[in-house]
Amino acid sequence: MEVLVLNSGSSSLKHQLFDMTDGRVLASGLVERIGEAESRVVSRTPGADGALVEHTETVAVADHGAALERIVAALADAGLGRDLAGIGHRVVHGGERFVAPTLIDADVIAGIRDQVPLAPLHNPANLAGIEDALALRPDVPQVAVFDTAFHRTLPEHAYRYAIPTTYYEEHGVRRYGFHGTSHAFVAKRAADHLGRDLDTTNLITAHLGNGASITAIEAGRSVDTSMGLTPLEGLVMGTRSGDLDPAVIFHLERVAGLDSDAVDTVLNKQSGLKGLCGDNDLRTVEERAAAGDAEATLALELYAYRIRKYVGAYTAVLGRVDALVFTAGVGENSPVVRGMVVDGLTGLGYGLDATVNDQRAEGRLLDVTGAGAAVRTLVVPTDEELEIAEQTLACVQQG
Ligand code: ADP
Repeated sequence: MEVLVLNSGSSSLKHQLFDMTDGRVLASGLVERIGEAESRVVSRTPGADGALVEHTETVAVADHGAALERIVAALADAGLGRDLAGIGHRVVHGGERFVAPTLIDADVIAGIRDQVPLAPLHNPANLAGIEDALALRPDVPQVAVFDTAFHRTLPEHAYRYAIPTTYYEEHGVRRYGFHGTSHAFVAKRAADHLGRDLDTTNLITAHLGNGASITAIEAGRSVDTSMGLTPLEGLVMGTRSGDLDPAVIFHLERVAGLDSDAVDTVLNKQSGLKGLCGDNDLRTVEERAAAGDAEATLALELYAYRIRKYVGAYTAVLGRVDALVFTAGVGENSPVVRGMVVDGLTGLGYGLDATVNDQRAEGRLLDVTGAGAAVRTLVVPTDEELEIAEQTLACVQQG
């Protein structure tokens, strides 16, 4: 039983094809720089011995529809994707309407379009992927899986901003949260590892990738999360500022002469690690810091300090924490960041085993809890595509 997962960005289209009987990846790939003269097409399909073989091509791919045609043709050449149980689409913003995986029809497409003002960059690209896939494979049930959905359980005191209610009621200005599929996936794996029911487990999950967010999970449900109306709020990220005094925006407009689009670009694309030290890739920042570079050292300290503050805040939100979970590119691969976060939190019961922490997860769950620590610390590799595939299949089977 096969499920195809599509992640359609503004100039890219990623895919993974799963065998849902065992969660195995049958094929995967991506098309980047769609619409440019030289698009890059990467396709991994099974070779003669069944192992995935990667092919890379540089060709012009005009639009998302053409990208999808290539993907489907490559799958067909490998004898795959003909009999799909479902196609799952990652959709960034579900607003208040979409709080669960949803079987796509014309009304759902219109509903996703209604959320575009909340996610002007992401939702149109997600919609393009959906419409192309429906045109190419109208025979296959298609499901939208929303990044915001896991955070539907936020209590109102966590999701409302203290601004006049009319802006919430008229314009949906509230906190929604993102990376929901990842937080949900690692929460399940963490509870399994702890030998507990997720329903009785309290966790703090830190998804640290290019984008980064941290979530307080009480009895398996998201009760607070660091991203807000958009993915800009919260932690320091690769190129996003995370939390700041909103008055910084008026100051940049009135004093530095930026208009609101320019401020948007500064805060989303030129801030975070990149704004502080010129590099947004944490590996490079760590290397520079290790070599004594002052800007990179400050960037790394600010990055870890912000995470530590949130872990402290969410420890207070939850009262009892069963485990702190690190995931995504940085969370899974950076002993340095994990150390900088947890070593400052011994007073709250957190602690690391330095030897285990020095390992890379490389697809495995690592229990990095130190001797005598009251709260467990885990490294849990995330797999957003598999989570989307599982949710897609469940949605299709429920009808
Ligand atoms: P995305 O949000 O694009 O899915 P990822 O989850 O792949 O991002 O995370 C990308 C980040 O992970 C980058 O900042 C990268 O530097 C960081 N990263 C990956 N490997 C390592 C490593 N070995 N050490 C430190 N950081 C790493």
